Amino acid sequence: MTTSGPGPGTATDTHCPYCALQCGMRLRPGAGPEPVEVLERPGFPVNRGALCGKGRTAAAVLRPGVRLTEPLVRDSRDAPLRPASWDEALDRVAAGLMAVRRRYGNDAVGVFGGGGLTNEKAYLLGKFARVALRTPNIDYNGRFCMSSAAAAHRRAFGIDRGLPFPLADVAGTDCVILVGANPAETMPPALRYFRELRENGGRLIVVDPRRTRTADQADLHLQPLPGTDLALALGLLHLLIADGRADKDFIARRTTGFAQARAAAMAHWPGRVERITGVPVTQLAAAAAMFGEAPRGMVLTARGPEQQSKGTDTVSAWINLCLAAGKAGRPGSGYGCLTGQGNGQGGREHGQKADQLPGYRSITDPAARRHVAAVWGIDPDDLPGPGRSAYELLDSLGGDGGDGSGGGIGGNNSDGRVRALLLMGSNPAVSAPRAAHVTERLRALDLLAVGDVVLSETARLADVVLPVTQWAEETGTTTNLEGRVILRRKAVDAPEGVRSDLAVLHGLAARLGVPEGFPEDPEEVFEELRRASAGGQADYAGISYGRIRAEDGVFWPCPAPDHPGTPRLFLDRFATPDGRARFAAVTHRPAAEEPDGPDGDYPLFLTTGRVVGQYQSGAQTRRVDELNRSAPGPFVEVHPVLARRLGVAEGELLAVSSRRGRAVAPARVTDTIRPDTVFMPFHWGGKGRANSLTNPALDPVSRMPEFKVCAVRVEKAEASAVTDAAS
Ligand code: SF4
Repeated sequence: MTTSGPGPGTATDTHCPYCALQCGMRLRPGAGPEPVEVLERPGFPVNRGALCGKGRTAAAVLRPGVRLTEPLVRDSRDAPLRPASWDEALDRVAAGLMAVRRRYGNDAVGVFGGGGLTNEKAYLLGKFARVALRTPNIDYNGRFCMSSAAAAHRRAFGIDRGLPFPLADVAGTDCVILVGANPAETMPPALRYFRELRENGGRLIVVDPRRTRTADQADLHLQPLPGTDLALALGLLHLLIADGRADKDFIARRTTGFAQARAAAMAHWPGRVERITGVPVTQLAAAAAMFGEAPRGMVLTARGPEQQSKGTDTVSAWINLCLAAGKAGRPGSGYGCLTGQGNGQGGREHGQKADQLPGYRSITDPAARRHVAAVWGIDPDDLPGPGRSAYELLDSLGGDGGDGSGGGIGGNNSDGRVRALLLMGSNPAVSAPRAAHVTERLRALDLLAVGDVVLSETARLADVVLPVTQWAEETGTTTNLEGRVILRRKAVDAPEGVRSDLAVLHGLAARLGVPEGFPEDPEEVFEELRRASAGGQADYAGISYGRIRAEDGVFWPCPAPDHPGTPRLFLDRFATPDGRARFAAVTHRPAAEEPDGPDGDYPLFLTTGRVVGQYQSGAQTRRVDELNRSAPGPFVEVHPVLARRLGVAEGELLAVSSRRGRAVAPARVTDTIRPDTVFMPFHWGGKGRANSLTNPALDPVSRMPEFKVCAVRVEKAEASAVTDAAS
């Protein structure tokens, strides 16, 4: 089912399979155990040849012994997975989906996608849910990743693109505030732009509860309590205004809503903000002066401010600071979000988000529905409406735990459960908040079908596992954190027995009685995506594979083949109806769950994040020996003061408990973290799973869970508590 790769000895220019930087790399047929060798590709402008360890070792996951090479099915709930033919596997999935639809209705089936899927896959998955399954219930793990920034971006600027300028612009500005972002661990090649910024005389301010390797490079590090950066941003805005550094001319000409935002900020005077955040007034004043005095400046956020139950308002507060300082909509200035997953940006533009249709269109907008329905050849009335957000979808899972053919309440879906799920390119058993509960819900499904490259923790729970092609084995576009649409190119044939996600959707749609409209060829899908996105915010109509090859990527919006693309947004006007950016009158509120005092059951903050040697749920990177040597397992970062109080030394086991579960991992004692906070990376399942602890409290706008802050108790643990910690 795969097209031929390049000829023997031919090098292929393509991109890394992992994070949103989408580093350019060159693949050459491999002489060793891997079918390709990863080489530098210095000509690609974003990473200029640099790769982190994950990118350098990405070919290890292509090894047949590492990745899946045949479909697997389970004969009954308790039976083990066994090899099956593609026909048997696809028949099983289609029959299970049909049985649930017949018995309980279309809403009882769901689809869960991933931010690593190419634009073509994300697009076709959204179409599959709405046209072949006719269900509103599709969402994806990108909801966990950038959705609060996306919501705040749209609220302020009328459009959501991670960075409204090329990343290289960072090196040429005068001051950057980096909030809850740690590119030294998450995307190391990006760090060069921050180094160049400082070499050029610019200043770097880092806001993070931990003194990370990124914070070590800053001129100023502000170390707030987790979940208080909204107050911090309000305090900086207060000082900017009070010190007369607000840009009145810019505010008057290019914004609306300043008076209300100003009033909210003035209620957050420096002493109050110090009490909320723990950041001394002197540091607040230094940061406000540094940013306010810089002729140009940027605020860049990542998961820190976004993964909160008030993430949208927190990002809005940072955008307010940019706008008030006149540092937006001008060359060298602006707010941006460092998106996380490989196609986190494109993945949300083309319809695998519960509330969106291709082109970043709203699924509730009648004109958008008419446009997309026409491209899909269906009646707009047949298009489902908005579905549940990612966590709400996972929380709603559960059927009779059988094959969907009987034993249930019958006739309707009065409890609103999603009873059959097709999941592509995601591992929520590790990556979702309150993961033990989510795992329970996945187990309770009548049918779980998983398309993946490896047998992830979630795939192990499935009734049917569909082995799909990956990165170097297929062609398709992704959209990097700058909004640059790029082309991953096939460099090697996939093993026998593996099919592309597009072929899987084609095969399933045909079995569901929709034989047309689900092509297997990625370029054919992209051509349809162009038409579906035409006239939308994320307009790809002028982008083609040929152009991407010739230009090393094209920035959207690009509405026509002769349009140059849009590397820099908002220089003349913002994408709002009146062309002005909108301040948001946001105020601080506590996290959904805070520590309950020194004598309480959960006296400490937990915050979670990433390490350089692993990627997201670790499904791929934990299968790479070199990466496991650098990041072998989970750990709990504790301050020496806390370690003394707990009577624990470096490497001894700690049990971390929250109201949702327990995790066990070795202590890593360091003074880079606050004494009132512990940190765990979230790349592992088993007993060291950080997401056993995290809080699914959702932001009311973005529906993003509060991964970044919850209350925990930490105790010394017995060695027997962790035998499978690094599974
Ligand atoms: Fe580049 Fe990210 Fe891949 Fe590392 S993981 S090589 S930073 S794209």
